[in-house]
Amino acid sequence: MTARFTPAFRAALLAHYDAEKRDLPWRGETDPYRVWVSEVMLQQTRVETVTARYAAFLREFPTIRALASATEDRVLKAWEGLGYYARARNLLSAARVLVADHGGRLPRDPEALAALPGFGRYTAAAVASIAFGRPVAVVDGNVLRVFARLLDEARDAGTAAVRARIEGAAGSALSRERPGDWNQATMDLGATICVPRKPRCPECPVARWCAGRRSGRAASLPRKRRKAAVPHVEVAVGIVEKDGRVLIGRRPSKGLLGGLWEFPGGKRRADESFREACAREVREETGLTVAVGEEVDVVRHAYSHFRVTIHAFLCRPLSGRLRARGTTRLRFVRESELGRYAFPRANGRILETLRARGGMGRCPRRT
Ligand code: SF4
Repeated sequence: MTARFTPAFRAALLAHYDAEKRDLPWRGETDPYRVWVSEVMLQQTRVETVTARYAAFLREFPTIRALASATEDRVLKAWEGLGYYARARNLLSAARVLVADHGGRLPRDPEALAALPGFGRYTAAAVASIAFGRPVAVVDGNVLRVFARLLDEARDAGTAAVRARIEGAAGSALSRERPGDWNQATMDLGATICVPRKPRCPECPVARWCAGRRSGRAASLPRKRRKAAVPHVEVAVGIVEKDGRVLIGRRPSKGLLGGLWEFPGGKRRADESFREACAREVREETGLTVAVGEEVDVVRHAYSHFRVTIHAFLCRPLSGRLRARGTTRLRFVRESELGRYAFPRANGRILETLRARGGMGRCPRRT
């Protein structure tokens, strides 16, 4: 099977990469820190989104030491819009480990890289090959698809045996002379030509080596088990306004959206209206009894393992003393200061709606 990946196969893909590679801000970058940041950003975020945020993040944190000395709030704010915020917290943790234990530099060895917070095999292989020229193959979703098709591998790609076969093939196909370019070439091929639904085989530089193309079933590969239905969660949140300030809470550092700020609220119970859920959740999370007024927004958002619909209401405090439960901090902040805080995307969309309305407005006296 590995005989398929001949020098001619490698030469064809690398020549195509040299001629057609995408013009991306991190292309040709060899500074290990910058390579690392780009690879972490690209893991679960679209290239277009990363392109828009990459340079700004590096302007704010130009070196590992600059990143290591930043607060978590600042890093999360700089990460806003990229999603999957655990990556930002891990970047910060790893930068601090690098300063404490590695002289502020990334180690060259893939095993040492993989031991850093948030790295894993993918990031370690990408940084080791692109920044340090180490011959280790990257296998991300794009590469897995390309090799499943090249091998005409029609078994379930989620099984360990199939995964091992594909990783073995990716490893044996790797160019030892240009491992960083090779990894980027295979990722590019998956992103631009060997795309999920309709691979563009007539344009493919390695079509003559592709068993999936010959069998005619490339488009259906890799095979994956059908995913379970994604749960849907309904949430009510309160925009609690007092003297021109609005109440926000900081989520605990660990867990989903850890360390981000949000409006108080939570899941609606089956026997509640959204207004009732808003009043109860705000009371439970903040200690405040509120009058629930106008519904100002309904935001739908999809996370990797659930979908959420958020109903946002303007609220006015009636009684009670502020105390945080479920969040680490609560704070009334001026509307003009909200931009300093990192919010999850769904809360950010509520903020955009409020700004488009010209501000918080006033909560009606009666509900
Ligand atoms: Fe993918 Fe088609 Fe190229 Fe095979 S020939 S690697 S299926 S684009």
